[in-house]
Amino acid sequence: MKALLLSEYGRLETVEVPMPRPGPDEVLIRVAACGICGSDVHGYDGSSGRRIPPIIMGHEAAGTIVAAGAGASGAREGQPVTFDSTIYCGECDYCRKGEVNLCDRRQVLGVSTPEYRREGAFAQYVAVPNRVVHKLPASTPFAEAAMIEPLAVAVHAVALSNLRKGDAALVIGAGMIGLLVLQALKQAGCPQVFVSDIDGTRLQMAKDLGASAIINAKESDAVAEVKALTSGAGVDVALEAVGSTPTVKTAIESVRKGGTVTLIGNIAPTVEIPLQAVVSRQIRLQGSAASSGEYPRCIEMLASGAVNVKPLISVVAPLEEGPVWFERLHERQPNLMKVILTPGEDGK
Ligand SMILES: [Zn+2]
Ligand SMILES: [Zn+2]
Repeated sequence: MKALLLSEYGRLETVEVPMPRPGPDEVLIRVAACGICGSDVHGYDGSSGRRIPPIIMGHEAAGTIVAAGAGASGAREGQPVTFDSTIYCGECDYCRKGEVNLCDRRQVLGVSTPEYRREGAFAQYVAVPNRVVHKLPASTPFAEAAMIEPLAVAVHAVALSNLRKGDAALVIGAGMIGLLVLQALKQAGCPQVFVSDIDGTRLQMAKDLGASAIINAKESDAVAEVKALTSGAGVDVALEAVGSTPTVKTAIESVRKGGTVTLIGNIAPTVEIPLQAVVSRQIRLQGSAASSGEYPRCIEMLASGAVNVKPLISVVAPLEEGPVWFERLHERQPNLMKVILTPGEDGK
């Protein structure tokens, strides 16, 4: 089969590799669409250290089941599916509690570290455990289904945010995850969702997707703007989808006393926080990792039109064009949001 291989840092090539063979509890999926994640771009140049070559990356995917192991009950050939990017064991204490994102034996598809290597979905076929697979309605286009993985990340973060109906929220960062968080907050019953970023184009997209107000943090004081929008009180919750000292600080200073800050972004491994503001104002800091159990709801949100991912997809391109698009994403070409690669022929 054809696969896009990271053979060394900064070097991707389309190569011929053996087809994966599904184990007893696995299914073999013909990949129709797989999105390039920011984490793939940070793996591509070696900066994250989580894509040690050689590795086939790709964890935001959808396709069709073409074969199933003997123990993969309920798997049917020809069934359109998507799958969790977290390969969890299903047996440890966390998995039993439904916290599969915290699984003791957690692996991530298309990731290689010194501990493990798990080939991903930038390939014509991928084998994954049947337990991580979710059926798709026939009406969902594969390219949009590839967005269910990042949508689940957003919905999970919102679910952890201690929200009550009517709460006002701030989203920091209008990238892919931030724009999905915005939509998930509206769905969760937040009448007022403000979005801050330093990129005017992305802020306009946030406005188009339903933001009540947009704040350009390059041109104005984001905290002061939030206070002005909330009669001086601050928002009930802030979701931080960047992960740097200034943005985490903005999140903490923008919430009301007793409010919640949910931390999703983590481009910096360490940030400085205004400790006394957190303690004396009793702010809750909540980390959010991947997702656990949100896939079915996200599939439904996409199918019903409750969430619109179309404006977030910039390009749908064949697998062979992967090296070019990775390079453009790496160079931060303006206005380039999600790039979806299509290794298969199912141009649905
Ligand atoms: Zn991702
Ligand atoms: Zn587990």
